[in-house]
Amino acid sequence: MVNVAINQINVLYKEYADGEISKAEAKDEAIKMIYSARYNIGDSQANYIWINTIDGIMVVDPPKPELNGKNVWDFKDKNGVSLFRDMERVVKTNGFGYVHYCWPKLGKPKNVCYPKMSYVRLFYPWQWIVGSGFYLDSIQKQIDEYSKRKKHEMFRMILLSFLLGGGVSCVSGVVFYVIISRMVYHLYKVGEVSGKFVYEEINKDLKLPYESKDELGYLVGNFNAFIDENYKLSLFKKTIEEDRDIESVYARIENLLKGEFDIKEFSVYEVNNSKNALKNVVLSGNELYCKHDVLIDSTLCRAARTASEVSSFEEKGVCLSFAKKDKKNHICIPLMIGGGVGSVIQIVFNNDIEYADVAKNVKRIKKFLKDAAPVIDSKRLLAQLQESNVRDPLTNLYNRRFLDEFASTFSESIKRRNTQVGILMCDIDFFKQVNDVYGHNIGDEMLKVVVNSIYKAVREADIAVRYGGEEFLILLQDVNENSALDVAERIRTNVESAEIAVSNSIIKKTVSIGVSIFPYDSEDFWKCVKYSDVAMYKAKESGRNRVVRFEESMWESEEY
Ligand code: GH3
Ligand code: MG
Ligand code: MG
Repeated sequence: MVNVAINQINVLYKEYADGEISKAEAKDEAIKMIYSARYNIGDSQANYIWINTIDGIMVVDPPKPELNGKNVWDFKDKNGVSLFRDMERVVKTNGFGYVHYCWPKLGKPKNVCYPKMSYVRLFYPWQWIVGSGFYLDSIQKQIDEYSKRKKHEMFRMILLSFLLGGGVSCVSGVVFYVIISRMVYHLYKVGEVSGKFVYEEINKDLKLPYESKDELGYLVGNFNAFIDENYKLSLFKKTIEEDRDIESVYARIENLLKGEFDIKEFSVYEVNNSKNALKNVVLSGNELYCKHDVLIDSTLCRAARTASEVSSFEEKGVCLSFAKKDKKNHICIPLMIGGGVGSVIQIVFNNDIEYADVAKNVKRIKKFLKDAAPVIDSKRLLAQLQESNVRDPLTNLYNRRFLDEFASTFSESIKRRNTQVGILMCDIDFFKQVNDVYGHNIGDEMLKVVVNSIYKAVREADIAVRYGGEEFLILLQDVNENSALDVAERIRTNVESAEIAVSNSIIKKTVSIGVSIFPYDSEDFWKCVKYSDVAMYKAKESGRNRVVRFEESMWESEEY
């Protein structure tokens, strides 16, 4: 239906292009047509088509006309999925594709949402995303009904063959029945498993055990290949996210190109926008494939300058900086970070290799790189932080000055990556007593013990700051609310069970922790920090040694 709609829009666009009607008239007609288009499939009635612009302005939403013209760019579903951003990503990658999210049903309460899958396609001339979708439960229902109907038909057929008295036809009826029920069973499984995508991470258990040369075997084979590829992708992303530093991520990309894709010649350049220079960070051989000038002037690199893929397969000698024109072809893929080019991956092939033989691989490589881009972004930021000397000497944590300097870069990067940060404000309970009773040195020891408890609970990519004397701010990257609370709870129990021995006794201490989530609680990073502080004070008030999640009701003033 989306494709049919796009064809119709195209007809109107042609009329406009031929000067028969104005652009506004053509768009108006298209909107009217979409507004009134409905179609039924199975029990799912009055399905509709909608249009939004690629940057998230709703053009026409038939069931909710009040949204027309509104900016829905930052809209998230109940599970935190930014569906309009997902759509933009999908159509920018392929021109069309599927998005999963959760959406209320027509005629059902607005606060309940149901897993939905939509097909979206870009109408390029007007930068419109045209889409239409199904609720997964109605697909499931159709598969159930289909399976029931087919079984019913087969029973009738067998009965008929009995009546006709044909023994042979009876046997073949039974065989046919067996085949069809097997097919139906596997179709059912495909439906069931695809329903799970909404809730589960992709894993190998979702693959279906069916091998055969028939059409079903082909379908199941493709389905399994899809699971395999997505599993590899998610594993790759997870691995690099957990990698210690940017160097390990580059090493990972190197291994991927060599191992998974059998590519022998490649290099990676980092773009340093402030210095307008390139840095070669990965090289498969001893010698650069580019002329050395690119290192001091990044505009000489065509991929870095144009922010688009450069392939000598398409146009021989396309980049003047490629140094091996006579013997090799190259494809240079820019990795986009925050609207600019962050790095360039260069893959090099011998001249006797045809593009058709590597096209599929190149497409796959791009998928992996696309997933790596935001991770590289955050790891580069982290590397930058580590270089600048902003640590507190007693605990070796980042100091407050660091936070002041990097908060804005950090929070921008988080928003760009469309992810969340858990902010934990952690304060030691009755710490003054330790100093008063045992002296400052033991107090200092205690601080180190607490820092150790924090380190044991967080990941490499998380950032811990000594915020005040005995106050620590911990930034947990890429977490949801529950995992942020889990980490806070782990810190709390780690501290609770830690002991420090003094001359004739053992001291134990506890901490109170306040938790907020950026940018969920507020788009303003510092406000979120304040929120975690407010929650920490609630934890103190309500008895100490506990974790408290910030709630709006705790916030009384607008000052911070
Ligand atoms: P609570 O937070 O549970 O309300 O009680 P508290 O006793 O921890 O209260 P408060 O935050 O007022 O006290 C903090 C104390 O931490 C005051 C200061 O002596 C001590 N402190 C701050 N920095 C250091 C440090 O670097 N070393 C040592 N030993 N003590 C420090
Ligand atoms: Mg304090
Ligand atoms: Mg304290």
